[in-house]
Amino acid sequence: MIEVIGHENARDLLAQSRPQSLLLSGPEGVGRRHLAAWFAYGLNCEQGFPPCGQCASCRQTPHPDHFEIGPRTTNRSGETAQNPQIHIDQIVPRQGAEVQSLLEWIESAPQYRRKVAVIDGAHQMTEAAANALLKLLEEPPSYAHLVLIAPSGHSVLKTLASRCIEVRLAPLPPERLRTLSDDPDMLAFAQGAPGRLLWALEHPAEVHDVVKLVDGLLLHLDEGPRALELAKALLQQVLQEPSPLPFLQRAFARLEPTLRAEALALISEIEQARRAYVHTDLLAAYLVLKLRRIYGNVRPRTL
Ligand SMILES: [Zn+2]
Repeated sequence: MIEVIGHENARDLLAQSRPQSLLLSGPEGVGRRHLAAWFAYGLNCEQGFPPCGQCASCRQTPHPDHFEIGPRTTNRSGETAQNPQIHIDQIVPRQGAEVQSLLEWIESAPQYRRKVAVIDGAHQMTEAAANALLKLLEEPPSYAHLVLIAPSGHSVLKTLASRCIEVRLAPLPPERLRTLSDDPDMLAFAQGAPGRLLWALEHPAEVHDVVKLVDGLLLHLDEGPRALELAKALLQQVLQEPSPLPFLQRAFARLEPTLRAEALALISEIEQARRAYVHTDLLAAYLVLKLRRIYGNVRPRTL
């Protein structure tokens, strides 16, 4: 049985409109894949929406009419990929391929009612893969639904995004997450994303470390070497999932709107730079410099 926390409006919309080409956008951990699974179960449930959890279709796990692809995290030789992407052979059948491609899978009629393919990380596709997916989005089989998942509509190629109905999932207000935890640090780390909160609850020591790092960094921003050390330690963790950087947002809440926008932009800048393997020392210096400028005279006494 799929339980979705929050996102009631999105659920109503999906149940009523049942789009064949859908883009679910929103931050990591907010519940996009969960909602996609709920949608897929609802489409195939004997009772319709919401999925009953008991009929023959709802009892299938994994479900034969559900399919999911995502960016490949290892390259051909089995090493960690520097830039994980969805590749063409995941979309179109290739000779000698080890895995079934999306096109092969979607060709045959569903075993129950509808076939639902989820493309997670739709913003991380090779050009060839995107073009192949585009053809499918233009003319999906009548029984098929394609669900793209990405951080935002802008992050996905325009040609792909324009063929989808976009449903944005916003972070949930803290009170919606209090049934899971009422620890303020955990809720702050979650940033309204149930997936982040569940991770945090399983990794309390890591969250505690991040809390200390962020508090320390902002407190010692003017102490050159110390600030740099703290910034570096924070950046070491940024490539891990979930990234601790959104946690910094907690500290930005008191800034005036323009400065806050600047601070939030800094976060995505740092995340991108980390993914592009910019050197940590350089990035730490940049982070401290930018934060100093943003905070200037409005240093928060209490965070
Ligand atoms: Zn059912």
